[in-house]
Amino acid sequence: MDQEVCNSKKPLIGLSLDSLREVAAEAGLPRFAAGQMARWLYEKRVEEIDEMTDISRQGRARLAERYTVGRTAPKHAAASVDGTVKYLFEGAGGRDVEAVYIPDRDRATLCVSSQAGCRMNCSFCMTGRQGFHGNLTTAQIINQVLSIPDSSKLTNIVFMGMGEPTDNMGAVLEAIEVLTSPWGLAWSPKRITVSSVGNTPRLRELLDKTKVHIAISAHSPYSEERGGLMPVEKAYPLRGVLELLREYDFAHQRRLSMEYIIWRGINDDPRHADALARLLKGLDCRVNLIRFHAIPGVSLRPADEGVMTAFRDRLNAAGITATIRASRGEDIMAACGQLAGQ
Ligand code: SF4
Repeated sequence: MDQEVCNSKKPLIGLSLDSLREVAAEAGLPRFAAGQMARWLYEKRVEEIDEMTDISRQGRARLAERYTVGRTAPKHAAASVDGTVKYLFEGAGGRDVEAVYIPDRDRATLCVSSQAGCRMNCSFCMTGRQGFHGNLTTAQIINQVLSIPDSSKLTNIVFMGMGEPTDNMGAVLEAIEVLTSPWGLAWSPKRITVSSVGNTPRLRELLDKTKVHIAISAHSPYSEERGGLMPVEKAYPLRGVLELLREYDFAHQRRLSMEYIIWRGINDDPRHADALARLLKGLDCRVNLIRFHAIPGVSLRPADEGVMTAFRDRLNAAGITATIRASRGEDIMAACGQLAGQ
């Protein structure tokens, strides 16, 4: 098919059942065709409208005049020695984005991107250093989940790839709806984690509209230090984010984690551990301590192993559950903070 004509068609993946009903009406199909389309898209995972064989031939032809399924294969894949695979997908503003597949015993997690680049400008992050190039559509987010080769093995999804998910809230909420609805992929929200720097109003919206797990990028208990690493601290201080989180229940249906990258001489001494423990006191959460992965042009250095262990033990002794997260995919630049869409 002529590439230009094809590109002007709208993708069906990413659409909700209600939106598919509008598509059905527009194509002169019966209302129940929306449920049929949802089943073909999300359960049977077809790649062509013509494969939707319980929709009449004429109906499929009318659909295909304006729509495509919208599935696109990754442009490139890079495999790590540890089994992690980084996939490159077409993004926005001429920039590609990455999704990272992380198999781990009986779990297989996909770390998805929500934006090409990022506006948040965190000093330690490759994505942030690229600047912002555009939001991904719901179809592009869902395509990452459906179009990796090991899609059927996935057990978990984390919105921790490129971009700040709450900065592309509409598409992220729609993607979560597709992932969790009975007419969609029918996943439990307990299999999904959204990571955020903590834009307070957007975070409240995410908490109110979904039941997914939440991960907050903390990185320092001190406002001034955190502000030096994460400019968002000035607009939405971590203290205010934690106040908001205290209004919600993280003891039962959903989990809360604090992400804490440890840098040598920056945020790795006992004073930081004690201040972090005081800040989190009474909040049902765990702390994930993350090794820093060096990125070009950034002078920050990872904390020593022994220092990380002591930091973890100090938090645990103060009653805050803390673990050191295993690094994955560092050799293919797929680890935390290393994604650059290249
Ligand atoms: S760490 Fe997250 S929020 Fe910060 S710049 Fe990178 S992608 Fe954006």
